[in-house]
Amino acid sequence: MGAYDITERLSAQGKRVAAVSVYRALDFLGEHGLVHRIASRNAFVSCGHDHGKAAKLVFLICRSCGGIDETTAPAVENALDTTLARSGFKPSSRILEVEGQCGACLAQEG
Ligand SMILES: [Zn+2]
Ligand SMILES: [Zn+2]
Repeated sequence: MGAYDITERLSAQGKRVAAVSVYRALDFLGEHGLVHRIASRNAFVSCGHDHGKAAKLVFLICRSCGGIDETTAPAVENALDTTLARSGFKPSSRILEVEGQCGACLAQEG
């Protein structure tokens, strides 16, 4: 869901909500690992996982149903760490996003 959609939805419930308050709330939730920002979609997903905010995540984004799944890939992350260290590059954001089709959609297509 994009921040704009969230603002619209909240406002539809009779309250006028400023987009800036939504952004602020999302920032707060993001800092606490309760929502994640999906950069490629400019959208946010809520997170029910109990990982710390430093968790290294991989998002699996389904192009068919729009579902976003979240998982971890320690091997990939470790390899990325090594690569970054070797390049002397300090990442400010390193969320991995993979687009494709989820298992449910694949199964439906048979
Ligand atoms: Zn999460
Ligand atoms: Zn899907």
